[in-house]
Amino acid sequence: MSVNEISIRIKQLQEEKNAIILAHYYTRPEVQDVADYLGDSLGLSRMAARTDARVIVFCGVHFMAETASIISPGKKVLVPALHAGCSLAESITGEDLVAWRLAHPGGVVVCYVNTSAAVKAHADYCCTSSNATRVVESIPAGRPVLFVPDKNLGAYINKVTGREMELWDGDCCVHERLPAALLLERLEEYPGAIALVHPESSGSSDDRVLYHPRVFIASTAGMIDHARRSSCRQYIVATELETIHELNKSAPGKEFIPALRTTICGQMKKITIERVLEALEKEQFEVRVPDETRERARRPIQRMLEVK
Ligand code: SF4
Repeated sequence: MSVNEISIRIKQLQEEKNAIILAHYYTRPEVQDVADYLGDSLGLSRMAARTDARVIVFCGVHFMAETASIISPGKKVLVPALHAGCSLAESITGEDLVAWRLAHPGGVVVCYVNTSAAVKAHADYCCTSSNATRVVESIPAGRPVLFVPDKNLGAYINKVTGREMELWDGDCCVHERLPAALLLERLEEYPGAIALVHPESSGSSDDRVLYHPRVFIASTAGMIDHARRSSCRQYIVATELETIHELNKSAPGKEFIPALRTTICGQMKKITIERVLEALEKEQFEVRVPDETRERARRPIQRMLEVK
Protein backbone atom coordinates (compact mmCIF):
# COMPACT_ATOMS: atom_id res chain seq x y z
CA MET A 1 0.00 0.00 0.00
CA SER A 2 1.18 3.54 -0.69
CA VAL A 3 1.50 6.10 2.13
CA ASN A 4 -1.66 7.73 0.84
CA GLU A 5 -3.62 4.44 0.92
CA ILE A 6 -2.34 3.67 4.40
CA SER A 7 -3.37 7.13 5.60
CA ILE A 8 -6.89 6.66 4.21
CA ARG A 9 -7.21 3.25 5.90
CA ILE A 10 -5.97 4.76 9.18
CA LYS A 11 -8.69 7.43 9.03
CA GLN A 12 -11.39 4.79 8.39
CA LEU A 13 -10.24 2.69 11.33
CA GLN A 14 -10.07 5.73 13.57
CA GLU A 15 -13.70 6.47 12.91
CA GLU A 16 -14.77 2.86 13.46
CA LYS A 17 -12.85 2.57 16.69
CA ASN A 18 -13.29 6.08 18.06
CA ALA A 19 -9.52 6.60 18.15
CA ILE A 20 -7.40 9.73 18.21
CA ILE A 21 -3.82 9.92 16.94
CA LEU A 22 -1.39 12.07 18.89
CA ALA A 23 2.09 12.58 17.45
CA HIS A 24 5.27 14.25 18.62
CA TYR A 25 7.09 16.78 16.43
CA TYR A 26 10.06 14.41 16.21
CA THR A 27 8.16 11.64 14.42
CA ARG A 28 8.44 11.00 10.67
CA PRO A 29 6.66 13.56 8.42
CA GLU A 30 4.06 11.04 7.16
CA VAL A 31 3.20 10.13 10.77
CA GLN A 32 2.88 13.82 11.67
CA ASP A 33 0.60 14.32 8.67
CA VAL A 34 -1.84 11.60 9.75
CA ALA A 35 -2.07 12.84 13.35
CA ASP A 36 -5.15 14.60 14.74
CA TYR A 37 -2.93 16.53 17.08
CA LEU A 38 0.77 17.29 16.81
CA GLY A 39 2.65 18.61 19.80
CA ASP A 40 5.54 18.52 22.24
CA SER A 41 5.38 16.60 25.52
CA LEU A 42 3.27 19.20 27.33
CA GLY A 43 0.80 19.70 24.48
CA LEU A 44 0.40 15.96 24.00
CA SER A 45 -0.19 15.39 27.73
CA ARG A 46 -2.85 18.09 27.77
CA MET A 47 -4.55 16.62 24.72
CA ALA A 48 -4.49 13.12 26.24
CA ALA A 49 -6.21 14.53 29.32
CA ARG A 50 -8.86 16.31 27.25
CA THR A 51 -9.89 13.81 24.59
CA ASP A 52 -13.15 11.84 24.69
CA ALA A 53 -11.82 9.17 22.32
CA ARG A 54 -11.89 5.54 23.48
CA VAL A 55 -8.45 4.79 22.04
CA ILE A 56 -5.34 7.00 21.98
CA VAL A 57 -2.67 6.00 19.45
CA PHE A 58 0.35 7.69 20.90
CA CYS A 59 3.07 8.30 18.32
CA GLY A 60 5.93 9.04 20.65
CA VAL A 61 8.37 7.16 22.87
CA HIS A 62 7.30 4.89 25.71
CA PHE A 63 7.40 7.35 28.64
CA MET A 64 5.08 9.72 26.78
CA ALA A 65 2.46 7.01 26.35
CA GLU A 66 2.82 6.10 30.03
CA THR A 67 2.07 9.72 30.92
CA ALA A 68 -1.04 9.64 28.72
CA SER A 69 -2.17 6.39 30.34
CA ILE A 70 -1.70 7.85 33.84
CA ILE A 71 -3.78 10.91 32.98
CA SER A 72 -6.46 8.93 31.13
CA PRO A 73 -6.82 5.59 32.94
CA GLY A 74 -10.19 4.84 31.30
CA LYS A 75 -8.77 4.99 27.78
CA LYS A 76 -6.83 2.46 25.79
CA VAL A 77 -3.40 3.95 25.09
CA LEU A 78 -1.48 2.29 22.25
CA VAL A 79 2.10 2.75 21.05
CA PRO A 80 2.84 1.73 17.46
CA ALA A 81 6.46 0.78 18.29
CA LEU A 82 6.78 -1.10 21.55
CA HIS A 83 10.53 -0.61 21.86
CA ALA A 84 10.75 3.12 21.21
CA GLY A 85 12.59 4.25 24.35
CA CYS A 86 14.58 7.35 25.36
CA SER A 87 18.22 7.64 26.46
CA LEU A 88 17.28 10.39 28.86
CA ALA A 89 14.40 8.53 30.52
CA GLU A 90 16.59 5.47 30.91
CA SER A 91 19.32 7.34 32.81
CA ILE A 92 17.44 7.19 36.14
CA THR A 93 15.26 4.80 38.17
CA GLY A 94 12.74 5.18 40.97
CA GLU A 95 15.29 3.62 43.37
CA ASP A 96 17.75 6.43 42.57
CA LEU A 97 15.20 8.94 43.84
CA VAL A 98 14.46 6.92 46.95
CA ALA A 99 18.18 6.98 47.78
CA TRP A 100 18.42 10.75 47.22
CA ARG A 101 15.43 11.42 49.44
CA LEU A 102 16.95 9.38 52.26
CA ALA A 103 20.09 11.50 52.06
CA HIS A 104 18.14 14.80 51.76
CA PRO A 105 15.22 14.90 54.22
CA GLY A 106 12.87 17.76 53.26
CA GLY A 107 14.27 17.85 49.74
CA VAL A 108 12.13 18.43 46.66
CA VAL A 109 12.39 16.40 43.47
CA VAL A 110 11.47 17.98 40.14
CA CYS A 111 11.40 15.56 37.28
CA TYR A 112 11.34 16.35 33.61
CA VAL A 113 8.50 14.61 31.78
CA ASN A 114 11.12 12.47 30.01
CA THR A 115 11.12 9.86 32.79
CA SER A 116 9.42 6.54 33.44
CA ALA A 117 6.21 6.32 35.47
CA ALA A 118 8.26 4.68 38.24
CA VAL A 119 10.45 7.80 38.49
CA LYS A 120 7.49 10.18 38.37
CA ALA A 121 5.95 8.20 41.24
CA HIS A 122 8.83 9.38 43.46
CA ALA A 123 8.84 13.02 42.32
CA ASP A 124 7.11 16.05 43.80
CA TYR A 125 6.74 17.98 40.57
CA CYS A 126 6.84 17.06 36.94
CA CYS A 127 7.61 19.57 34.16
CA THR A 128 8.26 19.83 30.43
CA SER A 129 10.61 22.16 28.58
CA SER A 130 7.57 24.41 27.98
CA ASN A 131 6.87 25.06 31.66
CA ALA A 132 10.02 23.94 33.54
CA THR A 133 11.04 27.48 34.56
CA ARG A 134 7.58 28.30 35.91
CA VAL A 135 7.36 25.00 37.79
CA VAL A 136 10.74 25.59 39.49
CA GLU A 137 9.84 29.21 40.32
CA SER A 138 6.66 27.97 42.02
CA ILE A 139 8.74 26.06 44.61
CA PRO A 140 9.55 28.11 47.73
CA ALA A 141 13.23 29.16 47.68
CA GLY A 142 15.57 27.72 50.30
CA ARG A 143 14.66 24.03 50.04
CA PRO A 144 17.13 21.57 48.52
CA VAL A 145 15.93 20.66 45.03
CA LEU A 146 17.05 17.82 42.80
CA PHE A 147 16.29 18.18 39.10
CA VAL A 148 16.23 14.97 37.06
CA PRO A 149 17.26 13.63 34.62
CA ASP A 150 18.49 16.24 32.07
CA LYS A 151 21.56 18.11 33.28
CA ASN A 152 21.45 20.50 30.28
CA LEU A 153 17.86 21.59 30.86
CA GLY A 154 18.58 21.76 34.60
CA ALA A 155 21.63 24.00 34.07
CA TYR A 156 19.57 26.27 31.83
CA ILE A 157 16.79 26.57 34.46
CA ASN A 158 19.37 27.28 37.18
CA LYS A 159 20.75 30.13 35.05
CA VAL A 160 17.42 31.78 34.26
CA THR A 161 15.84 31.37 37.71
CA GLY A 162 18.99 31.96 39.81
CA ARG A 163 18.27 28.71 41.70
CA GLU A 164 20.98 26.21 42.57
CA MET A 165 19.25 22.91 42.01
CA GLU A 166 21.29 19.75 42.19
CA LEU A 167 21.32 18.17 38.72
CA TRP A 168 21.13 14.54 37.73
CA ASP A 169 23.83 13.51 35.26
CA GLY A 170 21.57 12.54 32.34
CA ASP A 171 21.27 13.94 28.85
CA CYS A 172 19.42 13.49 25.59
CA CYS A 173 21.76 11.85 23.07
CA VAL A 174 20.30 14.07 20.33
CA HIS A 175 20.50 17.50 21.99
CA GLU A 176 23.84 16.67 23.59
CA ARG A 177 25.29 17.12 20.10
CA LEU A 178 24.50 20.85 20.16
CA PRO A 179 27.27 22.54 22.19
CA ALA A 180 27.81 26.32 22.42
CA ALA A 181 30.81 26.29 20.02
CA LEU A 182 28.69 24.78 17.25
CA LEU A 183 25.78 27.17 17.81
CA LEU A 184 28.11 30.20 17.78
CA GLU A 185 29.76 28.96 14.60
CA ARG A 186 26.37 28.71 12.87
CA LEU A 187 25.39 32.19 14.05
CA GLU A 188 28.55 33.55 12.48
CA GLU A 189 27.92 31.63 9.27
CA TYR A 190 24.37 33.05 8.98
CA PRO A 191 24.56 36.67 10.21
CA GLY A 192 20.89 37.38 9.40
CA ALA A 193 19.46 34.29 11.10
CA ILE A 194 17.88 33.69 14.48
CA ALA A 195 18.93 30.47 16.22
CA LEU A 196 16.01 28.52 17.70
CA VAL A 197 17.63 26.51 20.51
CA HIS A 198 16.02 23.77 22.59
CA PRO A 199 16.99 24.05 26.29
CA GLU A 200 18.01 20.36 26.30
CA SER A 201 20.91 21.36 24.00
CA SER A 202 24.29 21.13 25.69
CA GLY A 203 25.05 24.76 24.76
CA SER A 204 21.81 26.30 26.09
CA SER A 205 23.18 27.47 29.45
CA ASP A 206 26.43 28.92 28.08
CA ASP A 207 26.34 32.71 28.57
CA ARG A 208 27.51 33.33 25.00
CA VAL A 209 24.40 31.51 23.73
CA LEU A 210 21.94 32.42 26.47
CA TYR A 211 22.52 36.17 26.14
CA HIS A 212 23.17 36.24 22.39
CA PRO A 213 20.84 38.79 20.73
CA ARG A 214 19.98 36.36 17.93
CA VAL A 215 19.21 33.33 20.06
CA PHE A 216 15.71 32.25 21.06
CA ILE A 217 15.62 29.39 23.58
CA ALA A 218 12.33 27.53 23.85
CA SER A 219 10.50 24.21 23.78
CA THR A 220 9.64 22.82 20.35
CA ALA A 221 6.16 24.35 20.50
CA GLY A 222 7.71 27.68 21.58
CA MET A 223 10.13 27.63 18.63
CA ILE A 224 7.33 27.02 16.15
CA ASP A 225 5.27 29.81 17.63
CA HIS A 226 8.24 32.21 17.48
CA ALA A 227 9.01 31.37 13.84
CA ARG A 228 5.36 31.97 12.96
CA ARG A 229 5.23 35.40 14.63
CA SER A 230 8.71 36.80 14.01
CA SER A 231 9.48 38.91 10.94
CA CYS A 232 12.90 37.24 10.54
CA ARG A 233 13.14 35.14 7.34
CA GLN A 234 15.97 32.76 8.25
CA TYR A 235 16.42 30.41 11.24
CA ILE A 236 19.04 28.01 12.52
CA VAL A 237 17.20 25.09 14.10
CA ALA A 238 18.95 23.55 17.10
CA THR A 239 16.77 20.59 17.99
CA GLU A 240 15.61 17.30 16.48
CA LEU A 241 15.69 17.53 12.70
CA GLU A 242 12.07 16.52 11.98
CA THR A 243 10.80 19.69 13.70
CA ILE A 244 11.59 21.42 10.42
CA HIS A 245 8.61 19.63 8.81
CA GLU A 246 6.17 21.50 11.05
CA LEU A 247 8.20 24.74 10.90
CA ASN A 248 7.88 24.74 7.10
CA LYS A 249 4.13 24.22 7.38
CA SER A 250 3.59 26.77 10.14
CA ALA A 251 5.84 29.49 8.75
CA PRO A 252 5.83 29.04 4.95
CA GLY A 253 8.31 31.06 2.91
CA LYS A 254 10.87 31.19 5.72
CA GLU A 255 14.18 29.33 5.64
CA PHE A 256 15.05 26.75 8.30
CA ILE A 257 18.63 25.53 8.47
CA PRO A 258 19.51 22.60 10.74
CA ALA A 259 22.27 23.50 13.21
CA LEU A 260 23.48 19.93 12.66
CA ARG A 261 22.16 17.38 10.18
CA THR A 262 22.63 14.43 12.55
CA THR A 263 20.26 15.54 15.32
CA ILE A 264 17.94 12.63 14.64
CA CYS A 265 16.13 10.67 17.35
CA GLY A 266 16.32 7.07 16.16
CA GLN A 267 13.76 6.03 18.78
CA MET A 268 11.09 8.36 17.40
CA LYS A 269 11.83 7.09 13.90
CA LYS A 270 10.82 3.57 14.93
CA ILE A 271 7.25 4.81 14.59
CA THR A 272 6.38 4.25 10.95
CA ILE A 273 3.06 4.83 9.22
CA GLU A 274 2.75 1.06 8.70
CA ARG A 275 3.09 0.52 12.44
CA VAL A 276 0.45 3.17 13.14
CA LEU A 277 -1.95 1.25 10.89
CA GLU A 278 -1.06 -2.06 12.56
CA ALA A 279 -1.57 -0.52 16.00
CA LEU A 280 -5.10 0.47 15.02
CA GLU A 281 -5.94 -2.79 13.27
CA LYS A 282 -4.79 -5.01 16.13
CA GLU A 283 -5.26 -2.47 18.93
CA GLN A 284 -1.64 -3.04 19.95
CA PHE A 285 0.62 -2.34 21.92
CA GLU A 286 -1.30 -1.24 24.95
CA VAL A 287 0.58 0.72 27.60
CA ARG A 288 -0.65 0.23 31.15
CA VAL A 289 0.88 1.53 34.34
CA PRO A 290 0.39 -0.53 37.54
CA ASP A 291 -2.30 1.02 39.77
CA GLU A 292 -0.02 1.92 42.67
CA THR A 293 2.56 3.61 40.44
CA ARG A 294 -0.19 5.40 38.54
CA GLU A 295 -1.73 6.80 41.69
CA ARG A 296 1.60 8.14 42.92
CA ALA A 297 2.72 9.48 39.55
CA ARG A 298 -0.57 11.27 38.98
CA ARG A 299 0.07 14.03 41.51
CA PRO A 300 3.31 15.47 40.02
CA ILE A 301 1.84 15.20 36.51
CA GLN A 302 -1.30 17.02 37.63
CA ARG A 303 0.84 19.80 39.08
CA MET A 304 2.64 20.07 35.76
CA LEU A 305 -0.63 20.43 33.86
CA GLU A 306 -1.84 23.09 36.29
CA VAL A 307 1.19 25.36 35.74
CA LYS A 308 0.41 27.42 32.63
S1 SF4 B 1 14.98 13.36 21.35
FE1 SF4 B 1 16.15 12.82 23.17
S2 SF4 B 1 14.76 13.19 24.88
FE2 SF4 B 1 13.50 13.10 23.01
S3 SF4 B 1 12.87 10.96 22.88
FE3 SF4 B 1 14.73 11.16 21.65
S4 SF4 B 1 16.37 10.59 23.09
FE4 SF4 B 1 14.57 11.02 24.33
